[in-house]
Amino acid sequence: MAQQDDLFKKIVSHCKEYGFVFQSSEIYDGLSAVYDYGQNGVELKNNIKRYWWEGMTLLHNNIVGIDSAIFMHPTIWKASGHVDAFNDPLIDNRDSKKRYRADVLIEDHLAKYDEKIEKEVAKARKRFGDSFDEALFRQTNPRILENAQKRDAIHERFAKALNDNNLEELRQIIIDCEIVCPISGTRNWTDVRQFNLMFKTEMGSTADGAMTIYLRPETAQGIFVNYLNVQKTGRMRLPFGIAQIGKAFRNEIVARQFIFRMREFEQMEMQFFVRPGEELKWFEHWKQTRLRWHKALGLGDHKYRFHDHDKLAHYANAATDIEFEMPFGFKEVEGIHSRTNFDLSQHEKYSGKKIQYFDPEINESYVPYVIETSIGVDRMFLSVLSAAYEEQPLDGGEVRAVLHLPPALAPVKCAVMPLVRKDGLPEKALEIVNDLKFDFTTHYEEKDSIGKRYRRQDAIGTPYCVTVDHQTLEDNTVTLRERDSMEQTRVNVDELRSIVNERVSLNALLRRLG
Ligand code: ATP
Repeated sequence: MAQQDDLFKKIVSHCKEYGFVFQSSEIYDGLSAVYDYGQNGVELKNNIKRYWWEGMTLLHNNIVGIDSAIFMHPTIWKASGHVDAFNDPLIDNRDSKKRYRADVLIEDHLAKYDEKIEKEVAKARKRFGDSFDEALFRQTNPRILENAQKRDAIHERFAKALNDNNLEELRQIIIDCEIVCPISGTRNWTDVRQFNLMFKTEMGSTADGAMTIYLRPETAQGIFVNYLNVQKTGRMRLPFGIAQIGKAFRNEIVARQFIFRMREFEQMEMQFFVRPGEELKWFEHWKQTRLRWHKALGLGDHKYRFHDHDKLAHYANAATDIEFEMPFGFKEVEGIHSRTNFDLSQHEKYSGKKIQYFDPEINESYVPYVIETSIGVDRMFLSVLSAAYEEQPLDGGEVRAVLHLPPALAPVKCAVMPLVRKDGLPEKALEIVNDLKFDFTTHYEEKDSIGKRYRRQDAIGTPYCVTVDHQTLEDNTVTLRERDSMEQTRVNVDELRSIVNERVSLNALLRRLG
């Protein structure tokens, strides 16, 4: 665990050192849980967004995009249930004065039982070698059975307390499980209270009766209230989807773990409208489609898993998370929810407008059902970066920090470097940059030794470096160095575009999705 903490700290400082992510308002000592993306971060983030956007709108001719405003009529949040129910249960430790989410404290406690079980299994695997029957061991080992039983008993109480909204029981579980505050080490807990996560602000001047409005806590509602506009003007037929990328805001109680939990973040959401009764089929379809999108990046298939929800949100009849193995454990990156016809029906009720679809195939009008896929750009960014980061020992005792980013997501695709800053080499290198820059992000680098320049590019995940030397002027060939293998080959300048493009183009990545 300490090793993983250490790795996470290294990733955070790498992000800062190489211009990926900065603390917001840093020169004023920062603003908690708000972050800015630097020169490399913004490129990586934009590439993630493009991969998602094109994966949705280019590859599906029944999905279109919109860009709705952050400010919306306040009644929308009443209709959606956010004013009354977008709460987290919070609890304070009286000694450390630290505030926690009661559900997260219990979930972390439950995860410890799983860790114990996995440790037993790993130990036995080592002891028994090839003859190890893991399934049998899990079914019969007394320590595993005891831990699983304890976990399941707590889990059952926890799920019931969440579903019943029973705050006293949540506190009692914390007391009974002897959960201590990680800071003070004590069990001096307050009561559990509900806390609404929406930020409020005012629109208009107070003189003419300002209106309280909310910063949207999800982008989804902007899609629902535009359902009719898009369906009618786009002449869309069910099933069809509307995709949107945009900022969302939540006044998170405990905002830790860097960009994993922020107060201002970005979401990529797609609402897929279907015929009532067909939603669970489409739910399954989107679970698999979204997992394929993640896995196509090649970060490692074993790093993903589904986690079905214990407590369904007030609007859902099925929900699952795609979790990714971060340095601090498996965590939610994306949620896939079957939201029924809850949102559209609520907006029908609160707005008084008919929000229905006439289905010519069955000759009936109805309020469509909705499957939602909702992914956080920032969490996706963190998962890509965590999987890509490596401190790789090299021959001779040196260690290089390298980001094995999926090439299509890398901020810079190709760096071009003159071996020395004279003899016409910089001019030749610039000529190459000026030719390649129309196809992909190409950087020119002339400072420091070639070795140092390679390290800098490795650290930001640049898939290719091109070195221009004296031979280049004679035969128009350059050295092409590949990031992961560090292999160097001699290629003709005229071939560069197609070699680099083949590996870094988003098109090639999208083709993997079919
Ligand atoms: P959590 O349980 O971690 O608070 P959630 O279940 O409330 O997340 P959703 O409402 O399903 O999250 O939001 C969809 C996606 O938006 C999440 O999977 C996550 O990637 C992203 N997201 C949600 N809250 C945050 C946040 N505070 N900071 C960064 N990303 C977030």
